[in-house]
Amino acid sequence: MENFYDYGIIGAGPAGFTTALIAAGNGKSVVLFERDSIGGVCLNKGCIPTKTIMHSADLYYEIKNTENIGVLANDIQFDFAKVMEHKNKVVETLRNGLVKTLQTKGVKIVEKEAHVTADKTIEADGETYSCEKIIVATGSEPKALKDYPFDHEFILNSDDLFDLKQKPQKVLIVGAGAEGIEWARIFKDTDCEVTVVEAASRPLSIADEEVSKYIERLFKTRKINLKTSTTISKIKNKQVTLSDGDVLNPDFVLVAIGRNSIKPQLNGKVTVIGDACGQLMLANFAMYQARALVSGIRFDNVFVPSVIYGTPEIAWIGANEQDLPLGSYQKSVFPVRMLGKAHCDNEIEGFIKVLTYENKIIGAHIISKEASALIHQFAIAMQNEISTEELKKVCFAHPTYSEGVYESIMML
Ligand SMILES: Cc1cc2nc3c(=O)[nH]c(=O)nc-3n(C[C@H](O)[C@H](O)[C@H](O)COP(=O)(O)OP(=O)(O)OC[C@H]3O[C@@H](n4cnc5c(N)ncnc54)[C@H](O)[C@@H]3O)c2cc1C
Repeated sequence: MENFYDYGIIGAGPAGFTTALIAAGNGKSVVLFERDSIGGVCLNKGCIPTKTIMHSADLYYEIKNTENIGVLANDIQFDFAKVMEHKNKVVETLRNGLVKTLQTKGVKIVEKEAHVTADKTIEADGETYSCEKIIVATGSEPKALKDYPFDHEFILNSDDLFDLKQKPQKVLIVGAGAEGIEWARIFKDTDCEVTVVEAASRPLSIADEEVSKYIERLFKTRKINLKTSTTISKIKNKQVTLSDGDVLNPDFVLVAIGRNSIKPQLNGKVTVIGDACGQLMLANFAMYQARALVSGIRFDNVFVPSVIYGTPEIAWIGANEQDLPLGSYQKSVFPVRMLGKAHCDNEIEGFIKVLTYENKIIGAHIISKEASALIHQFAIAMQNEISTEELKKVCFAHPTYSEGVYESIMML
């Protein structure tokens, strides 16, 4: 009976560790299996390390460009080795904290590869665990180009970037989705020559078309070479030929064309959550699914915000305008340059766009400093069906970017 648990969870990423923490908090016995690092992709090879490196890159770029606001800084350097060391420390600190929290809650951690071998049965390293409920939260892995697999030297995925020993000079990124855009910004901020190729006719094709257009403009201003409707024709001897005939010699190719779910062989009844179930591949959605599964709170029709980091941030939630029937909605677009705070901060790029139907917000799209925070004002309103008339009664502080949310509502 020693190996009997209420919950057996495979994968200790956001989906798995959130399930484990809530279930254990509810007094259930929990065993959590992880074959690599506790915290999963998000903490070790995704959200956290990317945003840590991005913070350094952002600061470097910002400080280099503050002359016009009276801050003169000479001899600014981007110490790549130190940045990576700092990133490792951040990841380690958070991982150690997570392990401690799991242990304090009484979660049994087994750092081994695990498999569901029969109904209510998990095997790991020759041991058998009987689990009343089995949750599979095995995540995802980078998708490779069809004809050119990762060689981890010239053809890289995002995992490989976290082990780079030196900052590249010239980078080719395949894919202008969230991952491609964030890395393009990081590399460009740190003085690299960056080309991004995208097979679709616009960058960030899952987003609102106005957002994509603005990204194209931002990339142009920042001299990021974006080639849409373009693919890779050939990679040979570290030389890349594109479908438009261009030949490039980058230091490496970063393939950022999405991820594949990891679905282990499943025997018996299990629940699959997070990236493994192949829906929205976001840490916040993985954690939401975990909460919905074990917290007992009723969740209906969740609105999931998406954020792309860098300067300015990009965030959206709900419907895209191009997907709505013509004439079925109201729309406002508030330019960020109308905000006092944006001028104080020298960050006037972007807009706040709101789509409504019968006084209820059905979509919001933001390009702005602090977009990652602002989007939650729309998320709260949408999730709780707060009408635009009710939002108009709220008093917003000044000067803030939140005033832009208010103004965008007032324009409706
Ligand atoms: C570069 C990058 C940046 C990102 N940035 C963001 C962001 O800013 N915001 C955001 O919301 N999302 C971001 N994501 C996506 C986010 O990381 C994932 O959506 C999230 O990690 C999914 O959580 P998960 O628990 O489903 O899976 P994962 O985090 O992938 O965890 C699954 C775990 O299961 C383990 N595992 C797999 N098979 C087994 C097995 N048989 N036995 C034991 N263990 C196993 C794996 O080792 C892994 O640790 C980013 C991803 C990448 C790659």
